Amino acid sequence: MQSALAQKSLQDLIELSNRLGETGEFAILGEGNTSAKMDADRFYVKVSGTQLLGATEESFVPVDRKKILAMLDQDSLSDEEIAAGLLDAVADSSGRKPSVETMFHAYLLSLPQVNFVAHTHPTMVNMILCSTRAQELVRGRLFPDEIVCCGPEPVFIHYEDPGHILARKIMEGCEEYMKKWKVAPKSILMQNHGLVALGKTAAQVQATTQMWHKTAHILVGATLLGGANYLSEDNVRRISTRLDEKEREKAIFGDG
Ligand SMILES: [Zn+2]
Repeated sequence: MQSALAQKSLQDLIELSNRLGETGEFAILGEGNTSAKMDADRFYVKVSGTQLLGATEESFVPVDRKKILAMLDQDSLSDEEIAAGLLDAVADSSGRKPSVETMFHAYLLSLPQVNFVAHTHPTMVNMILCSTRAQELVRGRLFPDEIVCCGPEPVFIHYEDPGHILARKIMEGCEEYMKKWKVAPKSILMQNHGLVALGKTAAQVQATTQMWHKTAHILVGATLLGGANYLSEDNVRRISTRLDEKEREKAIFGDG
């Protein structure tokens, strides 16, 4: 049986997925995957091969978080072991197969204040992430709302094989980020791949995705116009911690 809270998470997840799929700028066809916490032990994640646009209850399968996290404790797993492990973690009898990216969703949903995760392949963001200058270009922040929605910096992940290896790299990158900033990241950029947005509410995750799309537009334009004028590290720290920005964050995202 689903609790009322779990049912609400699933409805929010369905709406978020459709919103992210509707413009075609963040994901087309079977691209991207989304997830939401269901309760302390389980979460919903997109079924492998389904589309964000047109997502329904059938597009998500409940999985056991501890079973997936146990897979991440392993240094390496064969493709067969991964496929078997994912199916074994499914918490219903539907036989539906969770996305191969379920492993990083499990980890991110175990971070403090994280209830929703959306992974997309936004065209503008990938314009940067597929360039030879990806890491250098995303090193700095450009404007205050970017910091409010996307965090003081993204976690940057060099290209990795999607699945188990990528999930372990994301885990390492987030641990490092949390040592520095003392909070969970809001965004992860994966070289030659795409974006992951994570947060407390579906609205927050949608805003982070939209704001990265906008930031990428501005970054490409500024680079073409002679170079991005990045904010100083002091300004970035100040904006990410100051009270009125926290109030603004609350106004944008709600208390959630
Ligand atoms: Zn992807």
